[in-house]
Amino acid sequence: MNFHVMTLFPEMIEQGLSTSILGRAKEKGIIDFEAVNIRDFSADMKHHKVDDYTYGGGAGMLMQAQPIYDCYKAIEKRIEENKDCKCIDRTDDENALAENIDCKDDLDVKEARRLRVIYVTPQGAVFNQQMAADFAKEEDLVFLCGHYEGVDERVLEEIVTDYVSIGDYVLTGGELPAMVMIDAISRLVPGVLNNDESAMTESFGNGLLEYPQYSRPEEWMGKKVPGILLSGDHKKVDEWRLEQSLLRTKERRPELYEQWLIDNPPKPEKKKRRRKHNEGIL
Ligand code: SAH
Repeated sequence: MNFHVMTLFPEMIEQGLSTSILGRAKEKGIIDFEAVNIRDFSADMKHHKVDDYTYGGGAGMLMQAQPIYDCYKAIEKRIEENKDCKCIDRTDDENALAENIDCKDDLDVKEARRLRVIYVTPQGAVFNQQMAADFAKEEDLVFLCGHYEGVDERVLEEIVTDYVSIGDYVLTGGELPAMVMIDAISRLVPGVLNNDESAMTESFGNGLLEYPQYSRPEEWMGKKVPGILLSGDHKKVDEWRLEQSLLRTKERRPELYEQWLIDNPPKPEKKKRRRKHNEGIL
């Protein structure tokens, strides 16, 4: 999966995404990211200006439409060329197969589905795990990071498909939000985490917060690891974990808990057990 980030501060993105799990995934070729400097597309050859005052007055500068549009067009062109290359690189057999399915599908998909361009903005829908999973299905994702007062509305209308926020507060720029989203999306791409299962059992994977976890030693500062986790009885461990997830979610995120109850009505044959999970919680 490829992330393309339009930014005025490419070094922030490059440094922020090159370490630890994402850095390793990039080295392995599972994900790739490029930070493209919007300033390189400024039509102002002398000062490489990318912002100007807002019409109608008001404090602060606004990012102008033209450099962002040209930056986007360059990225879009590269993505399309790469796709064409992939088709050309195939062996005869692969091409014969592709003729029937793949390339034809590529064309259909290209026509049916636009390249997704995310403008990170406090005016967007608030990012969550479900959105991360949805974005993780894409082959390419483009992010636009605003700065200063934001971006000229006209270029947003022209190129943006998704408006996404990381929360109800205002930051100085879109680089951190883009990195937050890229991190959350990347770890759902198969192969990025060593153990793909962990993404499923983690918080929000099943609509609940994750249960408490413990590592060595068995006792620390007088606190013991819950005995059931040492029992080796996987069924009991799973039951305990679900119970703990429910308790924790009810306490810390009651709205998620309520939603989980709606989404997971007790099944007739499992009624008894569900009552047990919820014992002392409801
Ligand atoms: N004037 C704008 C805020 C501009 S903040 C407004 O009132 O809506 C500058 C840039 O930071 C934005 O263009 C956006 O890209 C980014 N940004 C700030 N807060 C953000 C948030 N909560 N989520 C995502 N991006 C954010």
